[in-house]
Amino acid sequence: MPELPEVETVCRGLRANILGDTIAGVEVLRSDSVEYPDVKTFKSSLIGHEFSSVNRRGKYILISLNGQAGLAVHLRMSGRLIVMPGDKEPDRFLRVHLRLKSGRQIQYSDMRVFGRLWYVPESESFETVIPTLAELGPEPLEHLTANILQESLKDRKQVIKTALLDQRIIAGIGNIYADEALFLSGINPLRPAGSLKKNELIKLTETIQAVLTRAIEAGGTTFSDYTNAEGVNGRYQHEAFVYGRDGEKCRVCATVIERVKVGGRSTHFCSTCQKNKRL
Ligand SMILES: [Zn+2]
Repeated sequence: MPELPEVETVCRGLRANILGDTIAGVEVLRSDSVEYPDVKTFKSSLIGHEFSSVNRRGKYILISLNGQAGLAVHLRMSGRLIVMPGDKEPDRFLRVHLRLKSGRQIQYSDMRVFGRLWYVPESESFETVIPTLAELGPEPLEHLTANILQESLKDRKQVIKTALLDQRIIAGIGNIYADEALFLSGINPLRPAGSLKKNELIKLTETIQAVLTRAIEAGGTTFSDYTNAEGVNGRYQHEAFVYGRDGEKCRVCATVIERVKVGGRSTHFCSTCQKNKRL
């Protein structure tokens, strides 16, 4: 599932490729992929708009159109947003297709159809059309501090792994980078969130920022469907410490990495490096 580094990588690719280009044609092959408004309005409203900026908030891609309207995309499990030459064949799982004035095309494909697109009319804002945006926690690379984390985690009995996935606590972190940051902090994923000490919260904040920065540099992580806006895979999976490495040796101490289910999500950790903090 694309997380902050993958979505940031897609945004950078879009920025490099579509700014100043205009939407010339819209096709919706799967109506479920359009969350707002109805498909007919979505199609007719987008035509003629120019891409003026591309931004990210948490895992949302927020594209401004003529500086007034907007197009928002959430890739969820398997969404892919790829800019390509106009003559490139449609992807098997193509759901929404944008033809651009330059002759290029944007293919939004999504095997599992959990991803969503929104058109935001001039009279509205991203936040009014997508109320969840207003509830998102701080951007980890810009506004997260140990004090903020301490405030939002205090008295919480849920385990730290689950808390890190809560988008209202920190925006943009998912399963991969939660596991990686906890490993690099030496914190066991099953620790109650409210039990973390200040020095641990400082370390966790630092490692969250370091791992996200490193993953953005690597173009994100590709395990199944994610690619950047040019259709290229990420590379972070080759350097991950624990995520996706269950049964393999810890890169630090050679203990075999374990995988357990926490809140329904696969959680990878080293029982030696993350031992002392275990319940
Ligand atoms: Zn280890």
